Amino acid sequence: AKWNKNESTIFDKIIQKQIPADIIYEDDHCLAFNDVNPQAPTHFLVIPKKRIPLLDASEECDKDLLGTLMLTAKKLAQERLPNGYRLVINNGADGCQSVYHLHIHILGGRQMSWPPG
Ligand code: 5GP
Repeated sequence: AKWNKNESTIFDKIIQKQIPADIIYEDDHCLAFNDVNPQAPTHFLVIPKKRIPLLDASEECDKDLLGTLMLTAKKLAQERLPNGYRLVINNGADGCQSVYHLHIHILGGRQMSWPPG
């Protein structure tokens, strides 16, 4: 597999404030920051502080955390993107995942197309 439960990623460094990020929200369980390579006028990520490499690695015990991530994404998106927005979770190689720390992309500020490429 391309991921390892014990391997840290650049997102752990962002959580630990070892490298800078444009953080827009933080609480005990999650962190949100602007994507360094935005694919839309607004593009930020919501991540759990817990190291979950990808959605495939999430478990029943993560149920509350997954709900919290979704509600946090919704809250931040709703405030910033009243005309609508898109949430994306890339999972694994075919999902085009590049950072193996679970994250929700929130994209908006332009008309999205469907299906995605
Ligand atoms: P993935 O392809 O894994 O779903 O998305 C990873 C996202 O993280 C990409 O959109 C990429 O631009 C973003 N990213 C990767 N490294 C960094 C970083 O160091 N800082 C920030 N803010 N975003 C990053």
